[in-house]
Amino acid sequence: MTKGYILTKSKYIRGLQCEKAMYLDVFKPKLAFYPPEVLAKFRQGRIFEKNFKDTFPNGVDVSSQLRYRMEQYPVLTSQLIQKPGETALFEAGFLYNDVLVLADVVHKHEDGNIDIYEVKNSAAVSDTFRNDVAIQYYVIAHALQAIQPSDLFCNGLTLNHFYLLYNDGNDGFIKEDLLLQVDAACKDIEQKVNHFKQVLSEEEPVMEMSDHCDTPYECPYKRYCKRLKK
Ligand code: SF4
Repeated sequence: MTKGYILTKSKYIRGLQCEKAMYLDVFKPKLAFYPPEVLAKFRQGRIFEKNFKDTFPNGVDVSSQLRYRMEQYPVLTSQLIQKPGETALFEAGFLYNDVLVLADVVHKHEDGNIDIYEVKNSAAVSDTFRNDVAIQYYVIAHALQAIQPSDLFCNGLTLNHFYLLYNDGNDGFIKEDLLLQVDAACKDIEQKVNHFKQVLSEEEPVMEMSDHCDTPYECPYKRYCKRLKK
């Protein structure tokens, strides 16, 4: 691969459900099929996320500057976050151990303390969301160690809160800080990341269809796998 990374957050999450689905996500993504109701849910999620981002009127959207030049997200993010003063970045990119993650909102305070928000248009915190925050924390906590702020009055960048922000049922926001929980999970994540990288360096995994194809999400490769069974 020439992109400067091997895994992304979404591919890591896919790998937790099924290593074959992760493999297909990387090498054969055109085989994925998402029904209209799932695509509508994605759209609703983006609207909810945008509403939260609008609460940071001076936020800088890294994705609007770089679009699909994914390998440049960590570079631009590092430049922006090093600048003195408070800043909010949307879709900020971080890279560590060949994993690229884009954080929904990174809010750096003047003193260097950083709050990160993962936004989910959901009424509850699920294990999948915890895994989502955990892989981001693993990457970002390591990546921040290599970034030095240029502001002499700021002692360094400190990850202070990692919030999961979800829906209160009326499109309002509830936040839960998962930082301490995900910090404890870092060692397991490193092992999983290294295993997934190994899986991606080999042939397409053989995997029987079973209950895991619908848990926690309906897999978009079910049509492909059903065809293989015939
Ligand atoms: S349909 Fe099932 S076996 Fe096939 S890739 Fe998806 S989760 Fe894996």
